[in-house]
Amino acid sequence: MTGPDPIDTTRPHPARMYDWFLGGKDNYPVDVEMGRQLVAMDPRTLTMARANRAFMQRGTDWLARQGVRQFLDIGTGIPTEPNLHQIAQRVAPESRVVYCDNDPIVLRHAEALLRSTPEGVTEYLQADAREPRTIVEQAREVLDFDRPVALSLIALLHFVSDEQGAYELVRSLMSELPSGSYLMLSHGTGEFTPDNARAATEMYRARGLTLALRDRAEVARFFDGLELVEPGVEIVTRWRPEPGANGFEADESEGPTPGFVGIG
Ligand code: SAH
Repeated sequence: MTGPDPIDTTRPHPARMYDWFLGGKDNYPVDVEMGRQLVAMDPRTLTMARANRAFMQRGTDWLARQGVRQFLDIGTGIPTEPNLHQIAQRVAPESRVVYCDNDPIVLRHAEALLRSTPEGVTEYLQADAREPRTIVEQAREVLDFDRPVALSLIALLHFVSDEQGAYELVRSLMSELPSGSYLMLSHGTGEFTPDNARAATEMYRARGLTLALRDRAEVARFFDGLELVEPGVEIVTRWRPEPGANGFEADESEGPTPGFVGIG
């Protein structure tokens, strides 16, 4: 047995920058520095983080109300209350949730994800989304793949390029799930501000990180072969909005919040 991977504080990490966007404390000076640069370039980065979190809550609640009782959430991030299992188990305490991320800092905080209801189960796996088979094998210990599962990829796929197999990983995971299953995803976009998007992508690249922002059509392609639920692939704040429900209203006077979401 080797110990957990060390936390690399010399390079920014997406999970820690995102934590900073949300006002969390699990981040380091390198994360704050790059986070500040991204926000200086486009202040809506902050709104996007909150709107994204709010979508995860609305989407999970919707899925639970459709009767989904099993969730596989990949790219979980540093826990932020309420987490996905809390939303699902509020509707159905028996819900079973498997979380997965590849960043060692998420593992460090995983105990917050493991506070399941007694009737349900939560589990955390440390694995890379680009190895879907490993994830499915391990998730089988908690989830019954003969019954519907919601695959949740919230703000994950824009960190995986086409070359790294973004579309294949979604297809491979969905192929393991029985009919009646769902895909819920959210994705950053540069469609409304292409110059900023190019600069942000370059900023990531210069630090050895991938940023693969996609436009609406490219996000919709993740749902190929699935039936999209209303309103389809939509701007994050416009997917079944519940004004005030998440304690904030996005200011879109300068343009839409730069993210697309959908459930299929
Ligand atoms: N889903 C959460 C966090 C989004 S931040 C939310 O929306 O609130 C994106 C997360 O994806 C980070 O925690 C990052 O570590 C994780 N991630 C990025 N690439 C990954 C990969 N290849 N495999 C697994 N997790 C990944």
